[in-house]
Amino acid sequence: MQQYLEFKDQHADALLFFRMGDFYELFFEDAEIAAELLDLTLTSRNRNDENPIPMCGIPYHALRPYVARLMEAGRKVAVCEQLELPEKGIARRQVTRVISPGTNLDEETLAPDRAAYLAAVVEKSGAWGLAVSDFSTGEIRATEIVSDGRLDEELKTIAPTEIVLRPDAPQALRKRVSSLLPHCLISETQAPRRAGSPGRERVAGAGPAASAGGESLASGAGPLAREACEVLRSYASATQGGRIDHLREPVFYDAAAYLQLDASTRRNLELLQAYDGTTRGALVSVLDCCSTGMGKRLLRAWITRPLADAAAIGQRLDAVEVLAGDFSLRSDLRESLRRIGDLERLVGRIGAGSASPRDVTKLADSLAEIDTLRARLADGDSRGREAGAAADASEAGAADLTRETGSTEEALARHARCLDGLAHTRTRIAATLTAEPAAMLGKGAVIRDGFDAEIDRLRAISRDGKGWILAFEAEERARTGIPSLKVGFNRVFGYYIEVTHTHQALVPASYTRKQTIANAERYITPELKVRENEVLGAEERLAARERQLFDALLASLQPDQPSLGRSAGALAALDTLAGLAETAQRRGYVRPEVHEGLELDIEGGRHPVVEARLGSSFVANDTRLGPDSRLLMVITGPNMAGKSTYLRQTALIVLLAHCGCFVPAARARIPLVDRIFTRIGASDNLAAGQSTFMVEMSETAAILHGMTGRSLVVLDEIGRGTSTFDGISIAWAVAEAMLARRVKTLFATHYHELAALEAEHDLAENFSVAVRRYKGSVVFLYRIAEGPTSGSYGIEVARLAGVPEAVIDKARAILARFESGEGIGAAGAGQMSLFGAAARSESRREEEEAEDALGARLAALAPETMTPLEALNFLARLVEEARVGRRR
Ligand code: ADP
Repeated sequence: MQQYLEFKDQHADALLFFRMGDFYELFFEDAEIAAELLDLTLTSRNRNDENPIPMCGIPYHALRPYVARLMEAGRKVAVCEQLELPEKGIARRQVTRVISPGTNLDEETLAPDRAAYLAAVVEKSGAWGLAVSDFSTGEIRATEIVSDGRLDEELKTIAPTEIVLRPDAPQALRKRVSSLLPHCLISETQAPRRAGSPGRERVAGAGPAASAGGESLASGAGPLAREACEVLRSYASATQGGRIDHLREPVFYDAAAYLQLDASTRRNLELLQAYDGTTRGALVSVLDCCSTGMGKRLLRAWITRPLADAAAIGQRLDAVEVLAGDFSLRSDLRESLRRIGDLERLVGRIGAGSASPRDVTKLADSLAEIDTLRARLADGDSRGREAGAAADASEAGAADLTRETGSTEEALARHARCLDGLAHTRTRIAATLTAEPAAMLGKGAVIRDGFDAEIDRLRAISRDGKGWILAFEAEERARTGIPSLKVGFNRVFGYYIEVTHTHQALVPASYTRKQTIANAERYITPELKVRENEVLGAEERLAARERQLFDALLASLQPDQPSLGRSAGALAALDTLAGLAETAQRRGYVRPEVHEGLELDIEGGRHPVVEARLGSSFVANDTRLGPDSRLLMVITGPNMAGKSTYLRQTALIVLLAHCGCFVPAARARIPLVDRIFTRIGASDNLAAGQSTFMVEMSETAAILHGMTGRSLVVLDEIGRGTSTFDGISIAWAVAEAMLARRVKTLFATHYHELAALEAEHDLAENFSVAVRRYKGSVVFLYRIAEGPTSGSYGIEVARLAGVPEAVIDKARAILARFESGEGIGAAGAGQMSLFGAAARSESRREEEEAEDALGARLAALAPETMTPLEALNFLARLVEEARVGRRR
């Protein structure tokens, strides 16, 4: 217990898994937490004591799945191993690993297609440094942020699983992080050395990999960003026992250099997750044709962080175009990538020293494949050059900024140049390891025969010893005449001779009995023990020597890390691009023309996700906005007519173009956009204590504050959560604000009154979704047509939804009265309605009088002369009166 407590002391923030024989045990509070999270039975160590110690445990071989569940739950785990089998007394122990959600490297417990980000934040005088690492691949990105709103958005976009703060981090920062990311583990590191070098680093835009990622601004590279990197590295180093060679040089970026998407827009557009929380139905599920986990992760990063730079977008589009147009190159590339697999994480494990022997042979195989791939890309390149030259000639003079002359073949070459098959390394691996090494050290041969004389010698001894034992068994059978005699092995007794009870009489006197089992006795002889020592001794030394040589091999791979990292990064990009090209081909997407002007022109646009569900029955629609006409589309139409789909598809096409993806349209000219805003539906946030209307208005406020003439705003209903007149007034005023700022806006509304905007503003135009009445019902055509809708079709929709015919008929009759101007009173709703209206106007009059009286009393007050007590008394009186009034 003393030993346990010492280790627990050093790892107070982790659940300590304490190895005892074949189990890992947890004690005290750890046991209680683990029992709860892992459904383990809570027992106690010394039942009869006054204060028994709570305890629970798991078999040592089941560690992995349990750790995986704790990572999921945002917990940190320290694994304390037993270093020896104690002859007597207490075994030496050591914490060999600390695993946290952000530093997990285990291939089997990490989701292949999602990165688990580790972030570090430092704060100084109203500015923040932020470093983010996908620890499993070693990638680090960092930036400096000067507004707290931006910090919140960055953290929400990244959604790290673990955040590292310095121990002296301000309390406010801690609070902010934990309320922003309630499921994120907050860890602490020791303050890093202030002075000292920030380590290897690279400024985005400088190297080839930087341009591949499209990061072009280096203004994020301030001292705070560097400090955040240091905090992250020092924490990582502490958890990994210093083995963090796989962490790459940080890439500095500027958060403002990307197209901005706030959290609600990302949610509304269902980029990575549909409303129901699943991936099916999210944009990513339609786009993702990647062959490897690294491609899938990069695709997610691209979707959540669209580019805002035309040249960088153009580079991606060029590559997608080449790959979409060359089936054989694309399928060769995808096939190669499938064989290579998740090289990024493999390289991460090698750098962090946790690679298995099979990981290393896999690395060698991947490196060979990389050479093949590089050659294939160079080949595709030369053919591309001819095609590119022809295309350039035909498109001379085109104003498309993203299409650089001669850039087509360059599109893939820039990635191909980062690929390096590292022939020497490959040869070294092949010479060191057997062709199919054991999965784990100590579980079979790893080092190749002939590589090391000592290993060859030990293997010979072990082999001979085992051969001897087989021969010994045969000899003993013959000598004793016991046909069922056999030699066996277990970890407690070593080698033994087993004789069934029936043959006990034949056992020679030279055998020493060691153990009795159900139907047999087990014996040893001095001769057997001598051989056993030889075999076991040799196997033990063999295992140690194999481990030593394997570690040396891993160490010899460390200088290759930068090159491996570059290759892996390029492969990830190629995989994402090839996947996008595949999607474009399968789904008939086209290359968007992204330009610096303001005109948006989508011909035959489709919603990628709805189309994937409906197939060819999806109805395509155009969208034309700005710059000098039609900035605001007011779209009316009944429920279920396709308004939301149309709004979202426009936002998604613009977003996809900024990601460098082809888009679901017949043709698309897309202006560079700085922000996409969406306000969609009544996103219920009641759990967070805000009413729907409040949420709606705060989202609207955020849009009005943040939008510019380069933004795209998509509004699906505004003002629904309040009374009709309030709602219309707010919606109208918001629409005018959009027009005044010349913001491209799609506005779907059920307030037909807003159609009048068109008459008052040149830049506003009315549209509706076409529907036809047909035999008392309504047929949706899903076509966006000019002009406002002719009616609301609410009754028809109600009928479609199954509201009983009698109610529908009644509603029709009432509507007819309204439309003829007769009012509802005589329509048969009768006295109830009249009474209701009268009562309403009566109570309204009372309310107004009460408000008047209250106003008069407040106006008479002089707060500057009141004592706090007087003010409080006055307030208490008002409250009391109000309550009495309400009871009445
Ligand atoms: P609204 O916003 O007008 O209530 P939605 O956009 O939610 O309507 O569309 C309702 C349903 O209509 C969608 O789920 C989809 O199945 C279908 N739909 C919408 N747009 C189209 C389209 N362009 N082509 C075919 N079906 C569509």
